[in-house]
Amino acid sequence: MSISAKPASPPQASPIRPVELTLDSVFQFRCHKDIACFNACCRNIDLQLTSYDILRLKNRLGLTSSEFVGRYTIPFEMDAHGMPGLKMATKPGTSECIHLTEEGCSVYEDRPAACRYYALGNMAVRKKGSGEVEDAYFVVREAHCLGHEEPHEQTVEEYRMEQGLDKYDEMNSHWRRLILKKRSAGPTVGSPSERSLQLFDMCSYDLDSFREFVQSPKFKEVVDLSPEQERELLDDEESLHEFAMGFLEQVLFGVNSVKVRPGAREKRIKERREVWDQRRQQQITTHQEDLQKRQYGE
Ligand code: SF4
Ligand code: SF4
Repeated sequence: MSISAKPASPPQASPIRPVELTLDSVFQFRCHKDIACFNACCRNIDLQLTSYDILRLKNRLGLTSSEFVGRYTIPFEMDAHGMPGLKMATKPGTSECIHLTEEGCSVYEDRPAACRYYALGNMAVRKKGSGEVEDAYFVVREAHCLGHEEPHEQTVEEYRMEQGLDKYDEMNSHWRRLILKKRSAGPTVGSPSERSLQLFDMCSYDLDSFREFVQSPKFKEVVDLSPEQERELLDDEESLHEFAMGFLEQVLFGVNSVKVRPGAREKRIKERREVWDQRRQQQITTHQEDLQKRQYGE
């Protein structure tokens, strides 16, 4: 493994035991074009993508979310409940990143958060005795990476700023918190329905479909958006991304992030109950017909 990002869990295959760093911790590292190992880290990847990575990369390549996901990612399950995750695709028959060229990374300005962090790792941790989620950092030292030998020191915070990670961390923070919350939830909340997994998939990785969903009559029947709010969501993908996270949190955990129309919830429950009643009645009728057939030997 060379570059990996597991947003809410510690690194599994790191060759050294991680020492937790803070933003003020100083570490020695420098990566540059003339280093002998240039791009070695991109030739053997296991790279998990975040929701904001997808947004940046699909725009970079001029694709819709679903086109990007279909062409450049590999699906996997993040946990035993089947939480959908995506990894960066590799070139056929290799573990080399699909975006690596002779000149280096072809999507450099929009490269994923994990690529920016490397050779640091970062994970969200819930501190003991506190509900607060905090970021923890550690150095990932792999044999092929010569950057650790370079005589250059910086703080974690300086490195984050240099790599443009302030923006990525801000945009990914809600998504990462949701995953952590899901992982640490009790067994009832921990078994998501097929529908909630599909919703997680759409909100996380398919913002273009979520945009269509926001404009659908079904969505508007339930969610109360002012014309200004709707305009902002349709015009600004970053606002749409944040809104999608709030919507997801409301559906998965019942947190009131999105304004629901008065009576909409009750109406939906009533409609569902009517569907269940119809199904139940159909089952009873079928059962009675079967009994009659058996009784009269039809
Ligand atoms: S996206 Fe760019 S930096 Fe990241 S692994 Fe691929 S080639 Fe390397
Ligand atoms: S120094 Fe490390 S991060 Fe930079 S190119 Fe070499 S292997 Fe990759």
